[in-house]
Amino acid sequence: MSAPLSANEDRLRDIAHRLQLAMSAGEMGDWVWDANTGLMSLSPRAAEFFGMSPDAPVSREQLRGRVLPEDAVRTRLDFDRALLEHTDYRVEFRILRGRGAPLWVSAMGRGVYADNGNVMGMIGIIQDVTRQKLAEEALLESDRRKDEFLATLAHELRNPLAPIRQAVVIAQSPNATDAQRDWCHEVISRQVQNMALLLDDLLDISRITRGTLALRMQATDLTSIVEAAVETARPAIDAKRHVLTVQLPAERVELAADPMRLAQVLSNLLTNAAKYTDPDGRIGVSATSRDGVVTLSVTDTGIGIPPHAMGSLFGMFSQVKSGKDRSEGGLGIGLALAKGLVELHGGSIEAQSAGTERGSEFIIRLPIRTQQMRLAEQPIRPAAEIALRRRVLIADDNRDAAESLAMLLQMEGHEVTVVHDGREAVTAFEKTRPDTALLDIGMPGLNGYEIARLIRRAPHGRDITLIAVTGWGQDNDKAQATEAGFNHHFTKPVEPDAITALLARGPAPGK
Ligand code: ADP
Repeated sequence: MSAPLSANEDRLRDIAHRLQLAMSAGEMGDWVWDANTGLMSLSPRAAEFFGMSPDAPVSREQLRGRVLPEDAVRTRLDFDRALLEHTDYRVEFRILRGRGAPLWVSAMGRGVYADNGNVMGMIGIIQDVTRQKLAEEALLESDRRKDEFLATLAHELRNPLAPIRQAVVIAQSPNATDAQRDWCHEVISRQVQNMALLLDDLLDISRITRGTLALRMQATDLTSIVEAAVETARPAIDAKRHVLTVQLPAERVELAADPMRLAQVLSNLLTNAAKYTDPDGRIGVSATSRDGVVTLSVTDTGIGIPPHAMGSLFGMFSQVKSGKDRSEGGLGIGLALAKGLVELHGGSIEAQSAGTERGSEFIIRLPIRTQQMRLAEQPIRPAAEIALRRRVLIADDNRDAAESLAMLLQMEGHEVTVVHDGREAVTAFEKTRPDTALLDIGMPGLNGYEIARLIRRAPHGRDITLIAVTGWGQDNDKAQATEAGFNHHFTKPVEPDAITALLARGPAPGK
């Protein structure tokens, strides 16, 4: 008789041991509430969560005393409701831990009932879920920042529309003078440029986060980068009458970099310095080179950066509250972009400020590394002196984009056919035999890639210059365009000069 009993005991002990292991692996404690005594017995782990001893059972009130007051009522109500309705008890709450941040726990329990339905008690587990809760909070915060970003983006995209609309109305008025019409055109051109810059930043940041932005590295003169950046930021600096000081090394410093991207970073910092400094401030940009490292610094006498904001400054969509009222708009992606671009160059960027109203300094450090540099792709050559007359086919379902481009090319002396659908593009190609086709990629009927393949298959389509014009400028879009037979790929909005320069270059090499 004794043998089976001991076997049973062994089995029970084994089960208990495994349960204990599983609970401890899951960082769980367990608890038992006895309805008779009204007391709760806690396992050592559960007791540890509450900062109590596991030896003596405690009342529910005593435990609630350790719970964050705003959570305590909920734990009591949920517990009682579970017993009343014979449902499982599941609750998340915070336990106070002295001066430290509270501990987030999740408790689950199930009632134990007598045959007559009387409540005998409840048995359950308790688990530390602080990590998950913090991750959840971080996600909510980033979601909130994204929502705020979308609202800002809508606002920033709408801003340039008001002057454009007004300029169009004025330019259309029969009473407008020639001078007023010229002014309208300048306004439209400037505002369109603003929108394009904004969208470029957005596309760049998405390329950086997806790791698809490629640098065009070349041996670059430091001075020319600084000069290009200053030229871009100059209107913003002058508009607020800031005094700009530029300090460059006397000797020529050459570094391996993508000059356009570095100038973009620097002009971004300079524009920020102008934006976040009250009129008549001082802005400085300096460059030094020592021990194979180039250090660029942009200083201002502006509103400064409070210490609490330093940590998130280079994060996406990050805008300092106090700075917001005093900026002239922005999406909060400029610094994230700057950081991404500098890091792609193998460098680092940091901000320093003595605090609010004490000015700021942004410091970039870049390795010089001219030796192992990859050579850059050749930029598009400038327009040839003598423009060639081309027969051009434009296919784009955005009628305004297509018609306006056609008008520009006609003004340059080219012969242009416009269609707005993929199938029409193929018919027009057969009928007009163009030597150049500008094809939008997303179009009804056939898409740009399909049209390009059809054209390349035709005997008279081998030598045609095919140009993809799309809203997507990712590297894999470009690769897809090349694979489909395109010679060139342009991202919208296309600079008209870039297209006219390309057309002036003569026929493309045959595909
Ligand atoms: P944006 O300027 O579009 O808001 P950025 O990413 O360029 O976005 O900058 C993020 C935030 O950093 C700004 O909103 C501003 O609060 C702060 N900031 C950037 N540059 C400066 C500066 N030179 N002085 C003070 N604050 C700055």
